[in-house]
Amino acid sequence: VQAVFRSNLSHLLELMGSGKESLIFMKKRTKRLTAQWALAAQRLGQKLGSVWRDQKQILVHIGFLTEESGDVFSPRVLKGGPLGEMVQWADILATLYVLGHGLRITVSLKELQSNLGVPPGRGNCPLTMPLPFDLIYTDYHGLQQMKQHMGLSFKKYSRCRIRVIDTFGTEPAYNHEEYATLHGYRTNWGYWNLNPKQFMTMFPHTPDNSFMGFVSEELNETEKQLIRGGKASNMAVVYGKEASIWEGKDKFLGVLNKYMEIHGTVYYESQRPPEVPAFVKNHGLLPQPEFQQLLRKAKLFIGFGFPYEGPAPLEAIANGCVFLQARFSPPHSSLNHEFFRGKPTSRELFSQHPYAENFIGKPHVWTVDYNNSEEFEAAIKAIMRTQVDPYLPYEYSCEGMLERIHAYIQHQDFCAAPGPVPPGARAPQSPFVLAPNATHLEWAQNASSAPGAWPPAHSLRAWLAAAGRACTDACLDRGLICELQVPCDSTESEMNHLYPAFAQPGRECFLQKEPLLFSCAASSTKYHRLCPCRDFRKGQVALCQDCL
Ligand code: UDP
Repeated sequence: VQAVFRSNLSHLLELMGSGKESLIFMKKRTKRLTAQWALAAQRLGQKLGSVWRDQKQILVHIGFLTEESGDVFSPRVLKGGPLGEMVQWADILATLYVLGHGLRITVSLKELQSNLGVPPGRGNCPLTMPLPFDLIYTDYHGLQQMKQHMGLSFKKYSRCRIRVIDTFGTEPAYNHEEYATLHGYRTNWGYWNLNPKQFMTMFPHTPDNSFMGFVSEELNETEKQLIRGGKASNMAVVYGKEASIWEGKDKFLGVLNKYMEIHGTVYYESQRPPEVPAFVKNHGLLPQPEFQQLLRKAKLFIGFGFPYEGPAPLEAIANGCVFLQARFSPPHSSLNHEFFRGKPTSRELFSQHPYAENFIGKPHVWTVDYNNSEEFEAAIKAIMRTQVDPYLPYEYSCEGMLERIHAYIQHQDFCAAPGPVPPGARAPQSPFVLAPNATHLEWAQNASSAPGAWPPAHSLRAWLAAAGRACTDACLDRGLICELQVPCDSTESEMNHLYPAFAQPGRECFLQKEPLLFSCAASSTKYHRLCPCRDFRKGQVALCQDCL
């Protein structure tokens, strides 16, 4: 069946159910964004033309909202607890619905079981049941619940039809059970042996995972004009809904207060939170539309290091604010910061919001060393003098999110490659594959040049030579020039998330034996990594030029 874009979201709102504060928050958001989704669907429809889109049957099981996993977030929705996840889930639901797919939503174990057809009371059904869904979107909590309640079906389907919404991402070394266990990458969350691309992140952290994202409200020209006229050049809003974020920040707040009127949206019960100085105008936690209005008036949105990588800075930038944030030196990671401890990633954050720093940057984003008070003060003064227009990267617009998820749904196919691949076998979808009877790696030539391969072979920009053959020659064979001279004196094939790589002493080349361990994210001073590259669309980094 062909999927047809939907622009009326009232049935989706019914599907979302009711009761929990979290669902109420999500439904309000979806309702508010209806017109934007409809417009985006219309635009994407025009862009895609007559392209065939399969209608999929999709189950969305939001594990962290189930009572069975504690549902710690719902009671905090009105108290400034994390809202980013709810923003993202609301937008995922809207995306799948607007794209025209068949949708079921579950937020309890009971509903999950009944949708999967597990007989009630049969906790661990040993039978392999046919799965009535082409795709299941869930999170780590939901994954655990499915493992417990789907019996053998889980083994059969998890590596193929499941997508895991995973804010900060899961790196290959943590995902591969045997490897994680042997090499100290075992965490509470990891080692599911999925294809790393089945994990979908909030920001494009590493191409090892898929970038899911969320949307920020987009302004039309009239609204942009209004904002230009209505900005108070001396108004700052502090990033952070929880009082603890303000602790120990008196010095910075004092400096900022010399130049700007400081506003906060910190949750409080009856009294002003003691962490928030008296000169700050605290609005309390605001409903999302009022928070947007506040951002429209403000010149500066300022981060004090936490929360990491949330949606709010993108919203601020989309509403014409400059985002000022602290550079982290040394960088924060699971090795040195409690928040990331136990998360299945070694990623290092060099600032509070690396996406804002690296993908947006000046004039919208200023990342400075807060320990250097002169630098901090100079930045504030410079920002007050800068004229900045609202900016929203395409990938965070409704159209951009629809486009990306459309592409994933139509092209990402993990069903062909079940689980860790035995040595010597071929795994499609990996950038490099170990050819069955060969001792060399090759760029996923065969997989990628197969009809329907995605990303298509011609978007790829790297070649790997046979063992013993230099890249210079391998490239020349194909009418290309090598940028990276890798003269291998010897070549070894091993399970290691740093491979393929080259080591200078001994001029040794190391090849990857286990396709699930190909990791864009990994690095080590011992190796020069050999890096597969592809082209990408500006403002839609998840997709290659010809990926639609
Ligand atoms: N937000 C809100 N009211 C406020 C402040 C923020 O509704 O007073 C919303 C904001 O629009 C954003 C969401 O909270 O979409 C999540 O914000 P944040 O970046 O702080 O991420 P979190 O840590 O909550 O995941």
